[in-house]
Amino acid sequence: MNFQLTQEQEMLVEAVRSFVTRELLPHEEEVDRADAVSPELAAQIRGKAIAAGFYAFNMPEEVGGGGLDYLSQALVERELSRVSWALHVFVARPSKILMACKDRQIDDYLIPCVQGEKTDCFALTEPGAGSDANAIKTRAVREGDDFVINGSKHFISHAGHADFAIVFAVTDTYEHNGRKRNAVTAFLVDRGTPGMTVRRGPKCVSNRGYHTYELFFDDCRVPASKVLGEVDKGWEVANAWLTAGRVMVAANCVGQAQRAMDLALQWAADRKQFGQAIGSYQGVSFKLADMATQIRAAELLTLHTAWKMDQGSMSDGEAGMAKLFASEVLGKVADEAVQIFGGMGLMDEGPVERIWRNARIERIWEGTSEIQRHIISRELLRPLLR
Ligand SMILES: Cc1cc2nc3c(=O)[nH]c(=O)nc-3n(C[C@H](O)[C@H](O)[C@H](O)COP(=O)(O)OP(=O)(O)OC[C@H]3O[C@@H](n4cnc5c(N)ncnc54)[C@H](O)[C@@H]3O)c2cc1C
Repeated sequence: MNFQLTQEQEMLVEAVRSFVTRELLPHEEEVDRADAVSPELAAQIRGKAIAAGFYAFNMPEEVGGGGLDYLSQALVERELSRVSWALHVFVARPSKILMACKDRQIDDYLIPCVQGEKTDCFALTEPGAGSDANAIKTRAVREGDDFVINGSKHFISHAGHADFAIVFAVTDTYEHNGRKRNAVTAFLVDRGTPGMTVRRGPKCVSNRGYHTYELFFDDCRVPASKVLGEVDKGWEVANAWLTAGRVMVAANCVGQAQRAMDLALQWAADRKQFGQAIGSYQGVSFKLADMATQIRAAELLTLHTAWKMDQGSMSDGEAGMAKLFASEVLGKVADEAVQIFGGMGLMDEGPVERIWRNARIERIWEGTSEIQRHIISRELLRPLLR
């Protein structure tokens, strides 16, 4: 096995790292305190990301994207996540599900998203359907050339400033192994479409400045030309990208954990108690050893999984392992970093309490740790159970 990054990958990592240091990190504290990113700052980051060639790095070259393979994408995600999601989200990665666009959708949605002229949001979760996405109740009923959508969504990231939402709604039901299942369709619903209301959701402790929204659909009429992919085939469109997304979340966790580690290491060398650097006590230095070891394992697992995705040989369970392990390592490392900082670790004058707060969401979104364990164990047991 070759664990050496290519020269291009090394240069990419260096370029993204200096972009984060120069353009994003200086704003992190102010954005966290204000719990908001001004439209001017958002536009500035977007413009600089486009100029630097980082915008839409996840999208294929043939539609104008960066065309990075999954391993390189994971490296970029690792670097970007040294700063809060509230900021690096503006180095946009349009939902790759948009590759299912066809006909006019390509010029109306896909290309503008890749070029930074439009932004999307992904609207699946509902108050009654989180981990159990199949339980969504939002319905779309065909009426002539239109679909009429009724229902609601919550926890939808960026819906307040997105130009359109990719909305998942039930369009049919069928029996599978004696259980009723929903056939689901994905729709492209423009902001301002009559019948769709967007409302800011509750405040979140992680990534202040990164907001979620509630969407309400009340006889919201969209033409059939706004169906993304095929009618009743919404899961087919969504699942492939959701699985890939988990590996990218794992890469985000590795970057955040490494940042916490770097801060804790420096503090352990600088902070003196009982006349010595606290890092000279094994109670602290062994924590650092464990943190570094866990981060290395999470990083290798994540990059190996991304590499497998590039080879076309990654399974859902393997993506789940990377997401599960890296997000749990981040949780432990962030907590130990606070411990090494002592009281200062909980004060909002430094980034450690921010990293600790931000880390918490990673075990919940894109499939909770319990759901990842479910996916992994189901894959292990499936060949043995009848
Ligand atoms: C900040 C934020 C941003 C988000 N952005 C988006 C977005 O842009 N678009 C979108 O569609 N969604 C988004 N989500 C939703 C996110 O994906 C869900 O929060 C997540 O899937 C978990 O669903 P839930 O919160 O309803 O928890 P629940 O599903 O209610 O789970 C609660 C607890 O029960 C456990 N649990 C549930 N089922 C099982 C089981 N079978 N076995 C064992 N344990 C189980 C869970 O692991 C968890 O610990 C976002 C959420 C947050 C908080």
